[in-house]
Amino acid sequence: MKMYFKNANFYKNGVFISADAIYDGNSFNIFENGINDTDIATFRIFNNCYILPGFCDVHVHFREPGYLYKEDIESGCMAAAHGGYTAVCTMPNLSPTPDSMKNLSVQLDAIKQKANIAVLPFGTITKGEQGEELSDIEDISEYVVGFSDDGKGVQSEQMMLSAMERIKKTGKLISAHCEENSLLNGGYIHDGEYARLHGHRGICSKSEWLPVQRDIELVKKTECPYHVCHISAKETVDVIREAKRNGVDITCETGPHYLVMNDMQLMENGRFKMNPPIRSDIDRQALVVGILDGTIDMIATDHAPHSAEEKSRGLEKSLMGVVGLEIAFAVLYTELVKKNIISMEKLVELMSENPRKRFSIGSDVGFTVFDCDNEYEIKTEDFLSKGKSSPFEGKKVYGKCLLTVYEGKAVYVREEK
Ligand SMILES: [Zn+2]
Repeated sequence: MKMYFKNANFYKNGVFISADAIYDGNSFNIFENGINDTDIATFRIFNNCYILPGFCDVHVHFREPGYLYKEDIESGCMAAAHGGYTAVCTMPNLSPTPDSMKNLSVQLDAIKQKANIAVLPFGTITKGEQGEELSDIEDISEYVVGFSDDGKGVQSEQMMLSAMERIKKTGKLISAHCEENSLLNGGYIHDGEYARLHGHRGICSKSEWLPVQRDIELVKKTECPYHVCHISAKETVDVIREAKRNGVDITCETGPHYLVMNDMQLMENGRFKMNPPIRSDIDRQALVVGILDGTIDMIATDHAPHSAEEKSRGLEKSLMGVVGLEIAFAVLYTELVKKNIISMEKLVELMSENPRKRFSIGSDVGFTVFDCDNEYEIKTEDFLSKGKSSPFEGKKVYGKCLLTVYEGKAVYVREEK
């Protein structure tokens, strides 16, 4: 489809300017002084769209190698491009786990063959994410964006200290999934009002903030660049704010669902289950404050696809994780920008600029074009991801992706039915 974006809001050098743009089926061109005599009779016209830098998600699960029935690099990239993303960092809970050059090569080959956007793998901190022996950190450091045992916390303080000492020398950073196993007590949703009312076992906030607090002391010792994954609790925001004030080299991310939902909105359905869990409204509000005051640096989706069966077992028995790439912008635009809680410029920082800066992602940024004028209902059956489980199913939102361009090529084009 040929597209003419008339009077678009084009994000350039931190501000929005008015521009026209066309996609002629081949290339995408922006005209800051408007279009005069281009032959656009055959183009479909879209008014007042937003032309944004391609988003960057530093926390996705593309499941390849190992679990291709949940997602693979090709379907993951299609979902990412459909959500406006041109760069993603994949978490290493794969099979084989990227903990040695031999294992990482399997993933790197698949990326080379299938990826049409920037796909940057994390290597594991410990072999097999077992927490017992460090990975071949120096061997793989050149080929990974950072190190993470995502899905599990590194339980041993001594192991984390050794990891930081070695990773610090590689120039890469640690992206830590913080979770203290001894505090979990078989929990699977937030240890709060909803769990009490419906007889579920809860996950306490301390299981998240305690290991963050532990690691901050290790970062002070080692000066290893450190990033905290998917923070969900008020206390975690407080702990990180304090560390930043003290000059610790720490950043963090949160996810769309933690920013716009609370545990009282849960239903008895696996699509509301992820780790960490959606917490109370006090936690949610603290996360929004953390976004506003710069404690929280970026928004990552933790896109974690599973099969329909794996998500069909209710809150207690379904697997942890929901998909998010295809609706993150729409949800955040609708709930935060449209309600004047943050500006569109701030959202671009959180979804594109800050993650690229922190993780030194130097690939082409590209563009993504969104129509923010027309409301629609989220239908997960329309997702290009193999995963269809989302707490936002049925939600009415603004922000539909029309086009995503990476390295000059359209990697997503909306075809109207
Ligand atoms: Zn995680």
